[in-house]
Amino acid sequence: MSVSTNPTKLYEGKAKVIYTTSEPEILLATYKDDATAFNAQKRGSIAGKGNINCTISSHLFRYLEAHGIKTHFIDTPTDNQMRVRAVKIIPIEVVVRNIAAGSLCQQTGLPLGTELKSPLVDFYYKSDELGDPLLTRDRILLMEIATPGQIETITNLALQVNRLLQEFFRRCDIILVDFKLEFGLDAQQQILLADEISPDTCRLWDSSQTDANLRVLDKDRFRRDLGNVEGAYQEVLQRVLKAVSS
Ligand code: UDP
Repeated sequence: MSVSTNPTKLYEGKAKVIYTTSEPEILLATYKDDATAFNAQKRGSIAGKGNINCTISSHLFRYLEAHGIKTHFIDTPTDNQMRVRAVKIIPIEVVVRNIAAGSLCQQTGLPLGTELKSPLVDFYYKSDELGDPLLTRDRILLMEIATPGQIETITNLALQVNRLLQEFFRRCDIILVDFKLEFGLDAQQQILLADEISPDTCRLWDSSQTDANLRVLDKDRFRRDLGNVEGAYQEVLQRVLKAVSS
């Protein structure tokens, strides 16, 4: 039986296309300029986003790896392509929050910008059909999405990543409000940080701005039609590049 070495499209998501490579344990993620929000009810495109998010994610994965976090990241053959270790994604969106924003405000009534006394870890079921509902630990166990040990590992990793990213973004004069992580299992059942970390998946506020709209440097500019979306993504990229080169 011959083994095909041609890249085959394995999966197309909202922000990335995943291809197979000649090596079965390695996949190629191609970052797209397409942007969606509100469970893909709002669609658009952000010029240069694929390159920007791939570059930001690669630097953040490298930084996290250097601080002991195991990730799926290997390298970036081009500006919008990332070679990653193949993992089976655990269908949980792990959100860590430092400051109240977005759905936390909508669901709890906490005012936007409320500083949380300690980081909050929220789990959502990664299911477009069901609209990514909020999960509880018991529901994760009931649905057999993850084991108790995996939930504990994921929670600890998410909090560790939060501390590291808060520190990193502080050096960029950016406040890390909240962000979403995804984890996957490799062939050895080891949990690796996967997906991406970018202005699409984080709320990032410019710490030098107090104006509630001007400070936004993330996908909320697209979600809320605040304008200058590309400019904000570029700004984050430039600050990340400066931080990693200093
Ligand atoms: N997030 C994401 N993908 C999702 C949902 C949320 O990357 O499908 C990120 C979002 O950018 C924010 C954080 O997770 O940084 C918390 O989002 P929230 O639950 O407040 O939902 P939203 O208000 O974005 O709908």
